[in-house]
Amino acid sequence: MRVLSVKREAERRLRIGHAWVYANEIDGKLGSMGLIPGELVEIVCRDQSYGAAYVNPNTLIAARLLRAPAHGFEVDTWLAQRLRAAIELRARLGLRDQCRLVFGESDGLPGLVIDRYGSVLSAQITTAGMERMRAPLAAALKKIAGIGTIVWRNDASSRALEGLAGDIEIDGAADATAVISEADARFAIAPASGQKTGWFYDQRDNRARVLPHLKGLRVLDLFSYLGGWGIGAVCAGAREAWCVDSSESAVDAVRRNANLSGVADRLHAVKADAFDACRQFKADGQAFDAIVVDPPAFIKRKKDFDEGALAYRRINEAALRLLAPGGLLISCSCSHHFDEDSLQDALRQAAQGARRSLRILMRLAQSADHPEHPAMQETRYLKGFACAVL
Ligand code: SAH
Repeated sequence: MRVLSVKREAERRLRIGHAWVYANEIDGKLGSMGLIPGELVEIVCRDQSYGAAYVNPNTLIAARLLRAPAHGFEVDTWLAQRLRAAIELRARLGLRDQCRLVFGESDGLPGLVIDRYGSVLSAQITTAGMERMRAPLAAALKKIAGIGTIVWRNDASSRALEGLAGDIEIDGAADATAVISEADARFAIAPASGQKTGWFYDQRDNRARVLPHLKGLRVLDLFSYLGGWGIGAVCAGAREAWCVDSSESAVDAVRRNANLSGVADRLHAVKADAFDACRQFKADGQAFDAIVVDPPAFIKRKKDFDEGALAYRRINEAALRLLAPGGLLISCSCSHHFDEDSLQDALRQAAQGARRSLRILMRLAQSADHPEHPAMQETRYLKGFACAVL
């Protein structure tokens, strides 16, 4: 293993547990060291070793620490130990067959995300370093009790930055589908064709907190995907729910899931742009008692901040105009670069624009199986508010 020396600026971050070394923190000319993307190295700073890491000389994040001694480092042993720890952590939360099994850096497995749907795993690799470990990783995953199929969702756009091709592969049963449940609701998941890794477990804990308060209400679920919030609401006693998504396949899936959950008579699925749908509902004189706003990340890169912030404000303002007096607004953002304060600002501005007065009842966050690393604010991404409109 080659030894890479890092500048003192990086030391404080590494010492508190952060896993990344930026390209400008490496001593010497990174480009002329002949490093291969994904190569294993040892990271040192002033005589102290920070253990094994994998590198990519072509990316802003030049190295990711594996938090293991470089001397005698063995990929198989390391992977097995990390996976075992990730599984045990979920077990302590009472989770096994239906959860996010691996959440990247938070589980000490940089560049890797895995969701479990019964016997199907949906895995996503986003770095060259993890890609080089794919064969031993696949072998280790197949040893997990009850696993029959691995879907590789290696189609994330961020892979291009790492010099990796994008593809989706199924290792196991060609029909890689599964049915999962959240409380009384049932959802058919197709991890090979769905969005991201197939399902948004990150909202599960929020749904469990909020849905019991929607009994008897008329609910609008904007950006519904497979109907997690809307179908969940009806199963929890809401009078009816309207799910809106711009994806035809998502809307078809909402209808199937409503049937699976036995609530098709109280569930409406609409294929539309959420902004257009709000305008249409308003024109039709429709009102709702509770509205969920859970859009895709409007801010993917820092430089999109202003435009994205405006989009958060606009969609929430449109939602507020549809809320009946005393209604509930459940509003979320999964943009890394849009923190909780920024979302709160957007909601305050939206309320001002719609001439409504909001009170925050609950602060929402990603589910516990997406743990945050306290030294890596990058591991916190989902935030939200459940608000009452006075
Ligand atoms: N609320 C969902 C997750 C939403 S993911 C859950 O809890 O599981 C974001 C969804 O927004 C995707 O399904 C995507 O198809 C949809 N989407 C993206 N842009 C949209 C738009 N402009 N209008 C409506 N839906 C949109």
